[in-house]
Amino acid sequence: MRAAVYKAKGVLKVEDVPDPTVGPRDVLLKVSHCAICGSDLHRYVHGMLRPGAIMGHEYSGTVADTGAEVSEFRLGERVVRSGGRRGPWTDPPPYPPRFSAKERGWLASARPGAYAEYFVTDADLLMRIPDTVSNLEASLVEPLCVGLHAVRTSRIRLGDQALVIGAGPIGLLTQQCAGLAGASQVFVSEVNATRRALAAQLGAEAVFDPSQGSLEEEILRRTAFGVDVAFECAGARSTFHEAVQAVRGAGQVIVVSLSWEPVYCLPVDWVAREVEIKAVYGSRAGEWPIAMGLLERRRVRVQPLISKVIPLEDIQAAFQELLRPGTEWVQAVVAFD
Ligand SMILES: [Zn+2]
Repeated sequence: MRAAVYKAKGVLKVEDVPDPTVGPRDVLLKVSHCAICGSDLHRYVHGMLRPGAIMGHEYSGTVADTGAEVSEFRLGERVVRSGGRRGPWTDPPPYPPRFSAKERGWLASARPGAYAEYFVTDADLLMRIPDTVSNLEASLVEPLCVGLHAVRTSRIRLGDQALVIGAGPIGLLTQQCAGLAGASQVFVSEVNATRRALAAQLGAEAVFDPSQGSLEEEILRRTAFGVDVAFECAGARSTFHEAVQAVRGAGQVIVVSLSWEPVYCLPVDWVAREVEIKAVYGSRAGEWPIAMGLLERRRVRVQPLISKVIPLEDIQAAFQELLRPGTEWVQAVVAFD
């Protein structure tokens, strides 16, 4: 089968690899769509993978084969990744080990991913796609879960003012979830013009370009003391500090982005105002059906985020484009049909 294989830092190559084999509890998927995740871009650009690895974890597809012990899925059914059915649904995911030079391989998943024609996974890690949700939309259920988890972890209440920093796919989904959770106003800060326009289109109260003026001043002009909750979805050097500055005293900063470099922070603005900083990582198993329900009921819009649907052969160029600072792409999805 054809697959996009990680060769070296910044190099993906589409080549023939052996078809995956199916264990007793496995399902073989004919991959329909696989969305390109920001975390894949990080691994690619920082060289945090072993050569030979196949990435891709935001997939949808149809069941092409099942293991001997799988009775819950039939051939041809449309399925998507889920959070799993083992253990309490609120359990945190297994956290990765501490990030250090020695453990740089940790982001390489144990099994090959879905930037490939076929993909094998445990049957417990799949769920059916409702009839009214397309395979393309379903491929974005994983990033939607991340935004959903960020908002459900926050203490956002009806009428609150919120800020989202970074309007990539995660930020735009967090923005929509914050509105659904009761925020009366969601402000968005983003350096990229295309992404600012999309945030406005998706209902942002106001959008700011932080390179053109002080975000803190813009927020203080529109709120009494600052926003109640700020979601840090950018992971740039200055954005952690910007989030702290933008919230009111005893407000909350939810750190969603995984920054791979040291960030700027002035503790006095954080500690002396008792700002609560809370990290979120991934999502909880029980949040996957909630996310799918939001897609099914059209409460969250994922289609406007999808800038490009590309064939697998174009994946290297797509990674490069998504990493270009001024890109007009937001979300790219690999399609196999
Ligand atoms: Zn992802």
